[in-house]
Amino acid sequence: MYDIIIVGGGPAGLTAALYALRANKTVLIIEKSAFGGQMTLSPKIENYPGFESLTGLELSDRMTEQVLLKGADIELDEVREIIDGDIKKVITAYGEYQAKAVIVATGVKHRQLGVDREEAFIGRGVYYCAVCDGGYFTGKEVILIGGGNSALQEATLLSDICKKVTIVQNLADFTGEAKMAAVVRSKQNVNCVFSTTVERIMGENEFSGVTVKNTETREITKLKADGMFVAIGLAPDNKAFENVITLDRWGYFDVGETCLTSTPGIFAAGDCRSKKIRQITTATGDGACAALAACDYIDRGGA
Ligand SMILES: Cc1cc2nc3c(=O)[nH]c(=O)nc-3n(C[C@H](O)[C@H](O)[C@H](O)COP(=O)(O)OP(=O)(O)OC[C@H]3O[C@@H](n4cnc5c(N)ncnc54)[C@H](O)[C@@H]3O)c2cc1C
Repeated sequence: MYDIIIVGGGPAGLTAALYALRANKTVLIIEKSAFGGQMTLSPKIENYPGFESLTGLELSDRMTEQVLLKGADIELDEVREIIDGDIKKVITAYGEYQAKAVIVATGVKHRQLGVDREEAFIGRGVYYCAVCDGGYFTGKEVILIGGGNSALQEATLLSDICKKVTIVQNLADFTGEAKMAAVVRSKQNVNCVFSTTVERIMGENEFSGVTVKNTETREITKLKADGMFVAIGLAPDNKAFENVITLDRWGYFDVGETCLTSTPGIFAAGDCRSKKIRQITTATGDGACAALAACDYIDRGGA
């Protein structure tokens, strides 16, 4: 039995492990895919304090090594359910584990377009976060997919650094706030293409643009660009835990900065909870808060 089981090995989960281990708690981190989480998809991180620039894989390795050296146990497995009680049961695809407290740090996924070869081009022409990766396209031409508030925000940011931004939206107009849409439309270097969907990614080994289809005329055209940003929303995957943590209307854990859930002994940290800014720094901050709250819960005898 562990003091604390952490579900998810992204920056939130790994930071939670670090804080819990330093408080002499036994820790198991269960990760279903890659330790480091979304960071592993980032070719370059330039906004994590202390490092001018490093790859997401480097930062993931450093964080993972640090918790392993401190004594964390890790399992590559998928958590399917958490059963509440004085002792929490964590049910995975391959087994069952027990702990006094559980921290859920399952993150979020950027919704993908679903076109052929999209996965293969992630970090090599296809991106999902302009704040994170927009800088690589200073003075270059990019395509931005989407038309909601987050796409409009990304478009504004990209238009300040890129030579040209072509927004491709599947509907006849933007669905984001009118004020933000007006700002985007007023930009000289932004071109809006409505009622249009992406058909195919162009380029053999190097991204060179996309072919798009007008949904009204069915006409197919080529859009050349140096990179493409997909801003069609985030997709939390928290349904499996709604028996122990309430979800908000968008599917995030309805949990504030304290990381406390309505179930004593269960905590939620990082991108998976309701919050405005989803970045590595905010995820690590959550990891620390959740771990210290979990330690306090255990030290008080689980009350
Ligand atoms: C391409 C890209 C580039 C980015 N670049 C930057 C950047 O430069 N700077 C920056 O600050 N932020 C960047 N971000 C955002 C940043 O990576 C995230 O905000 C951060 O990783 C969130 O951390 P997290 O631990 O909350 O979640 P995640 O990193 O999403 O980690 C959650 C982990 O939980 C695992 N998991 C989920 N469900 C289960 C389950 N049921 N059982 C077991 N494991 C599970 C997942 O596999 C995942 O590894 C980028 C994101 C992307 C996609």
